[in-house]
Amino acid sequence: MAEVVHTPRVFSGIQPSGGLTLGNYLGALKRFVETQDKGGIETVYCIVDLHAITVWQDPAKLTHATRELAAGFIASGIDPAISILFNQSQVPAHAQLGWIFNCVARLGWMQRMTQFKDKAGKNSENVSLGLFAYPALMAADILAYHATHVPVGEDQKQHVELTRDIAAKFNNDYGIEFFPSPEPVIEGAATRVMSLRDGTKKMSKSDPSDMSRINLTDDADTIAKKIRKAKTDPEPLPETLQGLDGRPEARNLVNIYAALAEMTPEQVIAEHGGQQFGTFKPSLADLAVARLSPITAEMDRLMKDPAEIDRILAGGAERASEIAAPILKRTCEIVGMVGTGAG
Ligand code: ATP
Ligand code: MG
Repeated sequence: MAEVVHTPRVFSGIQPSGGLTLGNYLGALKRFVETQDKGGIETVYCIVDLHAITVWQDPAKLTHATRELAAGFIASGIDPAISILFNQSQVPAHAQLGWIFNCVARLGWMQRMTQFKDKAGKNSENVSLGLFAYPALMAADILAYHATHVPVGEDQKQHVELTRDIAAKFNNDYGIEFFPSPEPVIEGAATRVMSLRDGTKKMSKSDPSDMSRINLTDDADTIAKKIRKAKTDPEPLPETLQGLDGRPEARNLVNIYAALAEMTPEQVIAEHGGQQFGTFKPSLADLAVARLSPITAEMDRLMKDPAEIDRILAGGAERASEIAAPILKRTCEIVGMVGTGAG
């Protein structure tokens, strides 16, 4: 098969399955903004509402969370005049290509996905079929734009790898080098921010415990309280990075500090090693408040005009469709669907 060189394009998404967390900010949003600001590469960012409804979402809350997430993107620095910002359900190509990929992906591939196992837990007979098929839709999200780079947190690595498998199988089945093989881009000191209550569990917006996470909508007092109450061990911070081995909660707070301060974890240890948490936690809280409070204030301001947010999302959906619709059409032709231009 001929090697096709794909123009670099970035795609990533966040679910409106609750409010944005510090994990989403450091692992995803902040890096989306850096990629946008570097320039030279088209950036497509999606509020993935079709993914959110794989678990029950109260309709009014879904609407609110979608707008709030859009506000979070913009308040963090995504410029909708530069990046394409939209919600997934407004661009039908995602669901259509997702169906085709349901027919490409294998059941066994899905059964290996750790996110499904984590989210389904012991209840796997009773979760939605959508939760199981989620990775095929995620592959469609990425590949509908022929995206080549996918900035995500560590937790999404397996899904991006599955996207590569789906692209390769499609190309191989139809004997055409059509879909690119997208790269997960997992960088920085906070690729996996952990729960403040349990250093072995990922911080998540859908965690039932609000104390487990920092939300971008939390005020300064709440942030300080959550950090003060964050689980830690009784030892002071170590003098070397190796000293964090076996101390997941301490490591998490050091990584969060590093990502917020744009330092390496080594530099944080060099500055704060030997400190008790009673000293380190207030410094971390001050830093978090300094970084997050301008974003919180801007989100508040944007949320006062939901009609403007809806207009921005509609404009983004139009631009997204211009890219995705021809790629979907060509996919349907390749598959041999009549009426799609197939000869
Ligand atoms: P949910 O609990 O509903 O799955 P979530 O907090 O995991 O929500 P997602 O919408 O699933 O958020 O993920 C959006 C992006 O944020 C992805 O790129 C994901 O890798 C990243 N992300 C999520 N949680 C973390 C975390 N704790 N640390 C770093 N990145 C994260
Ligand atoms: Mg998630």
